[in-house]
Amino acid sequence: MAEVIDIVSLYPKDMNIYGDSGNLLTIERRLRLYGYEPTIHHYNQDDSWPDHVDMVLGGGGQDEGQRKIIRDLCKRGELLRGLAHQGVPMLMICGLYQLFGEYFQPIEGDRLPGICVLGAHTIGEKLRLIGNLVEHSQRFGSVVGYENHSGQTFLHEGTKPLGEVDAPNTGNNGSDHTEGAMNDNVIGTYMHGSLLPKNPDIADFLIAKAVELRYGSFNPQPTQKALSELKRLDTLAQHARAVAMR
Ligand code: GLN
Repeated sequence: MAEVIDIVSLYPKDMNIYGDSGNLLTIERRLRLYGYEPTIHHYNQDDSWPDHVDMVLGGGGQDEGQRKIIRDLCKRGELLRGLAHQGVPMLMICGLYQLFGEYFQPIEGDRLPGICVLGAHTIGEKLRLIGNLVEHSQRFGSVVGYENHSGQTFLHEGTKPLGEVDAPNTGNNGSDHTEGAMNDNVIGTYMHGSLLPKNPDIADFLIAKAVELRYGSFNPQPTQKALSELKRLDTLAQHARAVAMR
């Protein structure tokens, strides 16, 4: 019987604006190829929370989507901070990245409180940061995707970026050349794409952390067939990356 990994997909109904659910599909596929049994828990407002969580994934959303889920997210804030503190790997994209910080002040309307899993805050500006993006991450090398956000995010003391961007008007806030944030095993980023199919090293980082936390170590023994499928997926990712980095 394959070892189970429980994954929470946060607010897929309201926070999956640019197909970020592709990240969940990538994690699910790669876990199976490594010989694990992924169990997916789609969590929307007021759903019951699963008994066990090994990984949390969340996508982007317009300001209106963020307003829809903020009450419930704050209700789950302490639980999510606790899981992050235990080392549970999490990947939050754009709108949920913003709400995993201290707050998001949209251009219009009231400030949305964050749950302070990541040390950052976000201020909405008229200038939307939109476009394909390549960033340089110390941990993951080149990371490719695209961004589309009005919020400008500023990292707090002690919070490292996921990577650095070169071009002006890109990344966290268009001026300090940072993109994303990392605290322990929690990654926040503006990178839509979906991110993980194009950046399998980040997918494998999240998988390894989840398996190590639950089972003590991550030493996958994929079958020959699974190995060739992993190689095929990695070749596809390399093609997508080569195009993005032209
Ligand atoms: N509503 C937020 C913003 O515009 C997040 C957008 C998103 O998730 N793509 O900054």
